[in-house]
Amino acid sequence: MNSNEFREWSLHAAEWGADYRSTLRERPVRPLVEPGEIVRSIDVSPPEHGETMQAIFADFERKILPGMTHWQHPRFFAYFPANAAPVSVVAEYLVSVMAAQCMLWQTSPAATELETRVVDWMRQALGLPEGFSGVMQDSASSATLAAVLTMRERALDWQGNKKGLQGQPILRVYSSDQVHTSIDRAIWVSGVGEDNLVRIPVAGRFRAMDVAALEAAIVADRQAGMLPAGIIACVGGTSTGGTDDIAGVAAVAKRHGLYLHVDAAWAGSAMICPEYRHFWAGVEQADSIVFNPHKWLGAQFDCSMQFIRRPEDLVRTLAIKPDYLKTHGRDGIINYSEWSVPLGRRFRALKLWFLLRAHGLENLRTMIRNHVAWSEGLAERLAREADFEIVSEPMLSLFSFRHLVAGTDSGQHNLRLVNAINDDGRIYLTQTRVDGQVAIRFQVGQFETTAADVDTAFEVITEIARRLA
Ligand SMILES: *Cc1c(COP(=O)(O)O)cnc(C)c1O
Repeated sequence: MNSNEFREWSLHAAEWGADYRSTLRERPVRPLVEPGEIVRSIDVSPPEHGETMQAIFADFERKILPGMTHWQHPRFFAYFPANAAPVSVVAEYLVSVMAAQCMLWQTSPAATELETRVVDWMRQALGLPEGFSGVMQDSASSATLAAVLTMRERALDWQGNKKGLQGQPILRVYSSDQVHTSIDRAIWVSGVGEDNLVRIPVAGRFRAMDVAALEAAIVADRQAGMLPAGIIACVGGTSTGGTDDIAGVAAVAKRHGLYLHVDAAWAGSAMICPEYRHFWAGVEQADSIVFNPHKWLGAQFDCSMQFIRRPEDLVRTLAIKPDYLKTHGRDGIINYSEWSVPLGRRFRALKLWFLLRAHGLENLRTMIRNHVAWSEGLAERLAREADFEIVSEPMLSLFSFRHLVAGTDSGQHNLRLVNAINDDGRIYLTQTRVDGQVAIRFQVGQFETTAADVDTAFEVITEIARRLA
């Protein structure tokens, strides 16, 4: 592609993108495709000769687009959001064009220094105290893995990386039974082992882990000769928004000298609003905190942020420093690849910098407050309908519900209902299990959702539920 063609197709992509975003409401949120349909439409063998951009772009529109689930659709109420506010998409284009590798300070000084500044902007925006440093990771899963590796090394007096885990005492990590599967994977990958993730039972409206049971488990493990390493607490769990009593958990961590990691991947964005910070009261005592600006806040995927109390512990765990990566003679610089598992790093700070400057915190707060209010409003409306029940009350903008029909299996009926709603295409929802029973999740979090979109959700849910019943 020569530079004239690059210009032409970049402009074409920009036109396409603007049209796409402005026509999303007219598209079904989830496509109606059968598994295997798309792969059958793609040539089996790679082309020997170059093709025209016209042909490639036409196939993108014809073969790929109809098979996309539209995460930026204003009536995407499934999972959690993965927002890409338009301004962050523009920044991401610039990042793609420069395609810099931001592993060391010297491989991209501006990316490193902007990252340092933007992480500190977010620290202030979330109301976290000075003394937290931070780093941008690709995903919360990576941040949690880095935290588990750090708690492992700290507990083993920094011998795990060198000697392996054989011959070491059995490590134990504690969490509630509401945590995300990324915690399980971090436990597997770190060698701690699934059997040594101790799942503390939860209680109360927000399904918080029982702090007394947590402490009892730590004491019992120590007496049994095992080595408690850390606790992973959760603020805004994926199923129903399960949220631990962070202050209570932090007090236990402190008494027993354990590392505390807080997973607020989704709910963390809401902490730009001071009135929601009670959900993570005590968080300033954590050793690390992860939240994903790529979820609710609007930074194009991927953009995860990890705040760290003692970066020297993280660097001691993850820095390798072969000769060719050393930057001799420069003190006081940060090489962020020493703060994460992958060596190569994208320039993620630019999109967040653009986003925060273009919208300002006040507009972002308004969006999040609206989402919470609209979600609570929908939960109230559904609760007033005799044939619906609210299964988990709203935690910020997430709640779950069930349609009640006499004489049919509730689980089967509600699974059929989710499928029928998603096949309809006007909205998109996902299901979960609450105390073993199927429930339908609903969350508002898309950047361009309006109150009218949430009204549409009410109409679609009640209409289809009654048609199926
Ligand atoms: C989304 C989510 C994760 C995983 O985030 P990734 O960035 O996809 O790894 C972990 N924990 C919670 C609570 C989440 O909502």
